[in-house]
Amino acid sequence: MLEHDTAWRQAAQDIVRAGQRMDQRGWVPATAGNISRRLADGRIAITRSGGHKGFLTEDDVIEIDPAGRPRADGQRASAETLLHTQIYAHDPRAGAVLHGHSVAATVLSMAATAPAIRLTDYEVLKVFEGQKTHATSIDVPIFDNDQDIARLATAVAPFLGKMPGGYVIRGHGVYVWGPDMPTALARLEGLEFLLACELERRKQ
Ligand SMILES: [Zn+2]
Repeated sequence: MLEHDTAWRQAAQDIVRAGQRMDQRGWVPATAGNISRRLADGRIAITRSGGHKGFLTEDDVIEIDPAGRPRADGQRASAETLLHTQIYAHDPRAGAVLHGHSVAATVLSMAATAPAIRLTDYEVLKVFEGQKTHATSIDVPIFDNDQDIARLATAVAPFLGKMPGGYVIRGHGVYVWGPDMPTALARLEGLEFLLACELERRKQ
């Protein structure tokens, strides 16, 4: 049994609350999505495989090593754990990673023929790092869905450091991260708002 100190419990609570928030917004249907936090001491907390993200408890949060392996025997991390550890390995400042399956991300990415969704001139773009004005555009890359997560991570790798708005997996969902959970949640909310706007515009 791993020791659950205060820092760990705070990280686990961050994950539980993020799951509730994402569920309220309809971004984690059924057992979709996964959520992680990196603690100041480098430990990584992530949701275990399966389970509804709107009904998480601290016991649903497990510790993995930087390669994505559970620290305790008999535990199973989310299938997409490698996509979380990839972000932490690349960005030493990353402290939280969020993955959800929204309607907007799913539909837009399935309809898209371009390699990215371009978001232009929206006020909300300022939520993303390095964006000081709405008069700008960011490209949110779309990667083809793949049940081979290692292969998917290889496709994502060249774009790391160049995705202020996160990225989308086609017909699947989004990945967004930040230095802490509130920032990651704000970016997720910003991205989902923008994807929903794009979806509305395309209906016109
Ligand atoms: Zn997923």
